Amino acid sequence: MEYTVTLIPGDGIGPEVTEAAQRVIAASGVKIQWERHDAGAEAAERTGNPCPDALIQSIQRNRIALKGPVGTPIGKGFKSVNVTLRRALDLYACLRPVRSLVGVESHYKNIDLVIIRENTEGLYSGIEHMVVPGVAESLKIVTEKACIRISEFAFRHARVTGRKKISIVHKANIMRLTDGMFLDVARRTAQRFPDIEVDEVIVDACAMQLVRDPSRYDVLVMDNLYGDILSELSAGLVGGTGVVPGANLGDECAVFEAVHGSAPTIAGQGVANPTAVILSAALMLHSMGEREAARRIERAVERVYAETDVRTPDLGGSASTGVFTDAIMRLL
Ligand code: NAD
Repeated sequence: MEYTVTLIPGDGIGPEVTEAAQRVIAASGVKIQWERHDAGAEAAERTGNPCPDALIQSIQRNRIALKGPVGTPIGKGFKSVNVTLRRALDLYACLRPVRSLVGVESHYKNIDLVIIRENTEGLYSGIEHMVVPGVAESLKIVTEKACIRISEFAFRHARVTGRKKISIVHKANIMRLTDGMFLDVARRTAQRFPDIEVDEVIVDACAMQLVRDPSRYDVLVMDNLYGDILSELSAGLVGGTGVVPGANLGDECAVFEAVHGSAPTIAGQGVANPTAVILSAALMLHSMGEREAARRIERAVERVYAETDVRTPDLGGSASTGVFTDAIMRLL
């Protein structure tokens, strides 16, 4: 069987790390025909459109994509390609499993968390304007429909993956209507999942507790902005964004990508760590039903860290992206 998957190499280190993932998938024996589409800052420069319609149509057709990071200009220029894709394809759930890897130095061992982030609204709705010169307004949009589907996604995910506890992360003490609705809906959803333990935590306290004692958490569900921030914080607990995978999931389509950005300062040097995008590719294979190949890739990555000293510079080594990828392929 041969699958067709949309590939977005992206900007900066994106083409280097996605190529590494393609090599590892090919070595795992899963056959994929890649439909390559450019997006992001470099695509905008070349074609005038950072997120071409043909790319969105390709994902709608194939229903699955592997994506490298794309650059977003700060404060001006085009709208984020990530936000555009997530909304155009209704990829409402962002899933970020954060796990310690033996052999990767970090403050804690045995971290095993899942961050589930609402991906389509909140402060990322992109509705901003200048009220009068010197006064800007950004609207936080929260709908009951989006709260219901992200809560249900989180509880279903916890149940099918054998997780025991969900923490609902919010700031309903201050944002009583928006976060209040998120919390209410999550509480109501929890009643239908009596097998899952539930707790509630205010986002700032959650950030502090994640740093002090991440073992108290299992699955965390939260809105868009809190999820963006806390997933990077959590990545920092296990060695950085270079090793944490991610998935943007909807009912029709899925886009798999690392947590990290395009790292422009190291782009083109062949030193980026491809672990995060390779583990994102493994998540993609799981979702395609290629579980054995996915598990073999995950095991090979784990063994490179546990049994060898091959490391890219972000983790204190001197291996290039290619040498690190070769080491994974040898262990497949
Ligand atoms: P970044 O993640 O690109 O870089 C932060 C730091 O981590 C840098 O020191 C970088 O060198 C390092 N780093 C990141 N990934 C690495 C890897 N795989 N291997 C080794 N080192 C790595 O974050 P940033 O600098 O805030 O953002 C750069 C650009 O990326 C911005 O335009 C931003 O909008 C974009 N971005 C895109 C995504 C995405 O497409 N999903 C996510 C985050 C940021």
